[in-house]
Amino acid sequence: MLEGMPVSAGYATAKILKMDDATLHISNALITDVDQELNKYEDAIRKSINQLETLKATYAKKFNDDMLSLFDAHIAMTNDIEVVGKVKELIIKKSYNLAYAITLVSEEYIAMFNQIDDEYLKARAVDLKDVTHRLISNVLHIKIIDLAKINEPVILATKELTPTQATQLNPTYIKGFVSEVGSNTSHSAIIAKLLNIPAVFGVKDLLKHINQDDLAILDGIKGKLYINPTKKQLDTYKDVMQSYQAHQETLKIYEHMPLQTKDKQTFPLLANLSSDRDLEYIKSFALDGVGLFRTELLFLEHLQMPTYDEQYKVYHQILESFKDQDVTIRTLDIGGDKPLSYVNHPKEENPALGQRGIRFSFLHQDIFETQIKALLTANKYGNLKIMFPMISTIDEFLKAKSIVEFIEQSLIKNKIEVKPYQLGIMIETPSSALMANEFAKVCDFFSIGTNDLVQYTFAIDRLNQNLSSLYKPLHPAILKLIKMTVDAAHKHQVTVSVCGEMASDACSSIILLGLGVDQLSISPSSSLEIKSCVSKHTLKQLKEIAQHALSLDNQESVKTYIKNKTNF
Ligand code: PEP
Ligand code: MG
Repeated sequence: MLEGMPVSAGYATAKILKMDDATLHISNALITDVDQELNKYEDAIRKSINQLETLKATYAKKFNDDMLSLFDAHIAMTNDIEVVGKVKELIIKKSYNLAYAITLVSEEYIAMFNQIDDEYLKARAVDLKDVTHRLISNVLHIKIIDLAKINEPVILATKELTPTQATQLNPTYIKGFVSEVGSNTSHSAIIAKLLNIPAVFGVKDLLKHINQDDLAILDGIKGKLYINPTKKQLDTYKDVMQSYQAHQETLKIYEHMPLQTKDKQTFPLLANLSSDRDLEYIKSFALDGVGLFRTELLFLEHLQMPTYDEQYKVYHQILESFKDQDVTIRTLDIGGDKPLSYVNHPKEENPALGQRGIRFSFLHQDIFETQIKALLTANKYGNLKIMFPMISTIDEFLKAKSIVEFIEQSLIKNKIEVKPYQLGIMIETPSSALMANEFAKVCDFFSIGTNDLVQYTFAIDRLNQNLSSLYKPLHPAILKLIKMTVDAAHKHQVTVSVCGEMASDACSSIILLGLGVDQLSISPSSSLEIKSCVSKHTLKQLKEIAQHALSLDNQESVKTYIKNKTNF
């Protein structure tokens, strides 16, 4: 049995689909048969080109010509005379094995592209990495899996899934998801929760312990993976799954109920959303609007910067789908764990403390302005709240606001209607929580991003699984920052939402509402559990629980206290 961190609840029994990373196993062993190595190279080139042509044909309907031309560019790179010549030279003159020779030549070009101060060439470095990965996978006969094409039930096992790959997960066939790297607040975890796929991350040496097609049981509640389980384990889990299913059934009575306490105090319960593709799924939860639309995936999924029209289409669809409710759309929060392939992000020692969120938008003002223009114009279909990520000073908010107003004025000058909208910020740095009173004088709303607030308060990299035991959203230090933010906001009639993963945890939702948070924005799959938990207590009880939690001195005591008070 292997253990990791449970990040998305539920159970699955299915065959393992192992996704290996070709770049991991490249040895520098020398070869003796040069001809054989050169033939292998010809084969790998041919195979890569065939794959790229097939991909181009598959995506012909989905992508525009500009994007499709990228497949041509990858074909040209695979076959580039100069590159091919250099690889062959290393094989012939130095007896390097093929995978090693390809890696060395590719690294040389990538370093060269990165040195030149030209955005186009820097973007080519990213393409070359992709081309190299494909070639080496073909040399080493490692299957390149197209996630969108999986058509039988599997538990996906990987080293790490990128957010772009995560968007391709299809819950009809991907029954579970397990990885070596990742944390509860990584974007892959957020997507697994959104799609209701049981997931366990941070399983040490996972890929070493499993084989393709092994039967496995995944326990997304306790964070366990059983490989080739015994009959006894299978029988036990059959019972566990049945009672889990039965519990899910009992929660269905909350489907059309609001989030309300025992004494009928209601609170808006909103959805966290990452893609317009999830709209249908989200609608079935009858939530009260969108509290956080993360726009990153829209940018990550494209092979080039999404245009004004492409963005407008997505924002329009979301705003119109919730036309009688508020929709909070967050401006691009790129950087950190979410680099864009077509932008050259500077190499930073600490990306989480680097040019991410609003800092990226100020550095790439053209991208920011296009996004704001698309948001303001699409607002004619709904009720837009624009939210800025990673704000740490008042000046940053005022600068972002002035850019929005500048775009608004230029639209009005061109006789384009701009409907009223609200402007707010994520509270995800300690400085913004500490300055909440000043922010509340200039912002229309706050949304507390506890995923980052915890990271920056405890100086714990949220993606570093070795530190996951130190990542403590229910620690009184965090509760105090939340209380401070709520009190300051309410002095100025500013509403406060929480949209970090903490809001999707039933136990924590009790505390958040007790601290005075006005609304919760959650992974929709948690909504029934939260409604059930909150409905068992009066608002007065929630406040008492929260007040007492503030006086404790560690997360463990807070958790035990909530457990005793709520029987949860
Ligand atoms: C957060 O930080 O809590 C948040 C919601 O933003 P993200 O997880 O996208 O960084
Ligand atoms: Mg954040």
